[in-house]
Amino acid sequence: MSAEPSEPAAKSLENSSAPVRAAEPASPGRRRSSPLGGQEATRSERPWGQHSWLCQTAGAAAPSGGSEPHEVGSVGALFLGCIADDFTGATDLANNLVRAGMRVVQAIGVPAQPLQADADAVVVALKSRTLPAGEAIAQSLAALRWLQGQGAQQIYFKYCSTFDSTAQGNIGPVAEALMEALGADFTIATPAFPDNQRTVFKGHLFVGDVLLNESGMQNHPLTPMLDANLVRVLQGQCRRKVGLIDQQVVAQGEAAIRERIEHLRAEGVGLAVVDAISNDDLMRLGPALKGMPLVTAGSGVAIGLPANFGIAPSSSASELPAASGLRAVVSGSCSLATNRQVQAFVQAGCPALEIDPLQMAAWQAAGVDGVARALAWAEPLLAHGPVLVYSSAEPAAVKAVQAQLGVEAAGAMVENTLAAIARGLVALGVRQLVVAGGETSGACVQALGITQMKIGPQIDTGVPWCHAQSDAAPQGGLHLALKSGNFGTDDFFSKAFLNLA
Ligand code: ADP
Repeated sequence: MSAEPSEPAAKSLENSSAPVRAAEPASPGRRRSSPLGGQEATRSERPWGQHSWLCQTAGAAAPSGGSEPHEVGSVGALFLGCIADDFTGATDLANNLVRAGMRVVQAIGVPAQPLQADADAVVVALKSRTLPAGEAIAQSLAALRWLQGQGAQQIYFKYCSTFDSTAQGNIGPVAEALMEALGADFTIATPAFPDNQRTVFKGHLFVGDVLLNESGMQNHPLTPMLDANLVRVLQGQCRRKVGLIDQQVVAQGEAAIRERIEHLRAEGVGLAVVDAISNDDLMRLGPALKGMPLVTAGSGVAIGLPANFGIAPSSSASELPAASGLRAVVSGSCSLATNRQVQAFVQAGCPALEIDPLQMAAWQAAGVDGVARALAWAEPLLAHGPVLVYSSAEPAAVKAVQAQLGVEAAGAMVENTLAAIARGLVALGVRQLVVAGGETSGACVQALGITQMKIGPQIDTGVPWCHAQSDAAPQGGLHLALKSGNFGTDDFFSKAFLNLA
């Protein structure tokens, strides 16, 4: 049942069998169109001769470690083949590439099939950041082999802009395994992304105005970052020697950077941390990376790479099919920014349904279908504008839930519930879906059977709209925005849909 339009909308499912009250919303460059054949034709126009050694390196590389190479089909050479160590990080990278003019597809895990789309870059999203190093390496090499099978010209290993890793890895071990597989004797490493307040100076990573180890990251539950000196951190994870290309060199531009690289190589350095304190630094770095078989970085370096392939920013790179259908938000992130976004949506009078994990657990035990209740709440509201279903909660409430259910069980239960609700919403006709939370996004995308997404226009830094085919949305697929917990402005849940209109 619906509340008065002016009433704040958020309610928990537990109070009602029809299940909640909810308020009505306060107010409601060169795109190549042909698929595979066309892509091949266009690519053949590119000046491959300029960096043919790179094509050979990528194409001829033998996999090392992991399993035997397997047969992968090729649909024409890609410029960039990217391997990301987590899901929303992959989207963040894809977003930067699109803004720099590339047409990008994000694959969820290593695809079993050849690429089915016309793209300049593919980002393979893994979930390897905190896996044991051996597993992270095996997955990354499988992604590399698939990308090589698609003809990728340069490989980009993407990690977090706060260099999230344990003392053992996985940034160093995965980077070195990729180097070995590619026959590369040198690569760079930098998480710098000034647009997102991540800068590197004299090899030290700053988050905003403070050093990494004073930024809160020293308390991260899985990857506490206790040292801001990335040369030291990376050296602790690598067999090869780690060096530094400092900002004075970067500021001088391509020739100076290349000279420094040659100097470091002569000294036996295999990986060099690169300083960058502004986008200009990243744009100066880009040309110096032309032809380097492997680049390792956060998402920031991506802004300077497309120009190496003759690609300039263009709105056509982010073109998606026209959006239609109903709109919804599913939020399982409990991060500060997401909690503010939930609050803003509720305060704007938009319909919102809170999922209480303890109530859900009790219903599950009693055989009550909480997902069906949530969908019954949403169904009559959807026609009037976006609805929000959320488990997002303040830290004390999350801790209380975790104390009763256990940390992992609580997380899994909430993720499964929200994923089933997302699928149900799509079955009700939702074709524009915002999901908040990295793990939550992974669960929803999996529940929707999505394996590839085309990356579209940016909503906020690091969060683009995407378009994906899904068996749950058989005709025309659906538009998705997958938001990492702390990304986005407070009005994100409303603003996102306006961006798509
Ligand atoms: P973020 O990107 O903010 O880290 P994630 O989706 O990655 O968000 O992680 C949030 C985790 O918290 C998920 O595992 C989710 O299931 C869990 N969670 C969400 N809401 C609650 C809650 N109310 N109580 C306990 N755990 C929750």
